[in-house]
Amino acid sequence: MDYISTRGQHGPIGYEEALLTGLARDGGLFLPASWPRFTIEEIEAMRPLSYAQLAGRIMARFTGTEVSEAELTQMAEEAYAGFDHPSVAPLTRLTDRLHLLELFHGPTIAFKDYAMQFLARAFDRALQRTGQRAVILGATSGDTGSAALEAFKGRAAVDIFILFPEGRVSAVQQKQMTSVLADGAHAIALAGDFDDCQDLVKACFNDHTFRDRVGLSAVNSINWARLMPQIVYYFSAALALGGPQQKIAFSVPTGNFGNVFAGWAAMQMGLPIERLIIASNQNDILTRFFADGMMQRETVRPSLSPSMDIQVSSNFERLLFELLGRDGARVRGLMAEFSSQGRFAVPQEILTRAQQDFAAFCLDDAATKAVIDKIWRQHGQLIDPHSAVGLGAAWQAKETGLVGSDTVLVSLACAHPAKFPDAVQKASGQTPQLPDHLADLMDREEASLRCRNDKAALISLMEQERRK
Ligand SMILES: *Cc1c(COP(=O)(O)O)cnc(C)c1O
Repeated sequence: MDYISTRGQHGPIGYEEALLTGLARDGGLFLPASWPRFTIEEIEAMRPLSYAQLAGRIMARFTGTEVSEAELTQMAEEAYAGFDHPSVAPLTRLTDRLHLLELFHGPTIAFKDYAMQFLARAFDRALQRTGQRAVILGATSGDTGSAALEAFKGRAAVDIFILFPEGRVSAVQQKQMTSVLADGAHAIALAGDFDDCQDLVKACFNDHTFRDRVGLSAVNSINWARLMPQIVYYFSAALALGGPQQKIAFSVPTGNFGNVFAGWAAMQMGLPIERLIIASNQNDILTRFFADGMMQRETVRPSLSPSMDIQVSSNFERLLFELLGRDGARVRGLMAEFSSQGRFAVPQEILTRAQQDFAAFCLDDAATKAVIDKIWRQHGQLIDPHSAVGLGAAWQAKETGLVGSDTVLVSLACAHPAKFPDAVQKASGQTPQLPDHLADLMDREEASLRCRNDKAALISLMEQERRK
């Protein structure tokens, strides 16, 4: 399978090159040169497969001759062996027509584990084959950092450094990062805020001498290989609920548009999905876009669902490329406009095309808390604020008729409630308990590096700590 850039000026390249490169040289994002497609019979035949086998079957269509289905299945088996539920991504029934898809059974209890655990193995394999080493550098405001440190810790060919803004992540999130004590895995507390962290990461990537010397790489959701494993749970959920015959729709708490785009990829692969619901918090840039076709950036307003406090959804560029008939030059033009003027618009017929597959709704903090409280009172179940935004949007889609009355709705539960205990407590009066494997988290030993907000200081710290 070949990969091409959404901006039309890099590629085609192979799967492993796309994996290790991350962001295309023209600033675009990689996508498969064409969407592989399963027939309904082929999807039927997936029903008896285990989660790892299903992952192998689906991802093999994207790796072509480079990695076999058997090897992908093996990698998925290893990636998900430590998850605390035998079905890996189980469903919980709320009503006959509404189910939660629980994506918090990995080591850091947020859905990022599903992709990151696979990605670490994919990196290992690609680096081993070429005898290279890599340094992974990322900035986090929460869930990505801990998932990446957990997944990449102790891997022979990779050193990983994650910057977080000192004193500005939740206690649980910070402990999840600083308690990873393994060779080559480093959490760095930066004296600054999240934007400072991100700017510093960008500055290091723009330092080409450093970048080439250490083999600098990124694992944020612009990497195609992070989306690939996320397609799998859309198939597993649909198959478990009677798909492909039963009509299914998904509601997806959305920030960077990675998870919901994986759902759209599942559609392109032939999985019948009636609609994908984009659920946002008060940072509603996508809700506004789907109303009038204008993408207009505003300032981020912190909410109870911090992993969705985003104004620029980087993965949206992949959908834009598809909506524009894969016209890389047009994407390049719109993205340039967006970065210089903070906005761009698409014509009505493009918006109409987008509205066929997607619907977008948003909830503010008060509405989010009301959903948490309602689910606790009616079903005796605690959900986290991100999952609550998803459920609230799912109901809005039902009420407005954008999802049919005989459709089964699956709302993605993207984090465990104990990852956001304060918000859950305030909304429901209940204190969520960490799962057994994290019960002693707050008592664990921790170590972290500290760095001032300065590129030279960060680079010398990484040079000192990385294994050679
Ligand atoms: C990352 C994250 C999201 C947003 O997912 P995107 O793929 O960025 O749209 C939502 N909820 C939780 C809990 C997350 O960690």
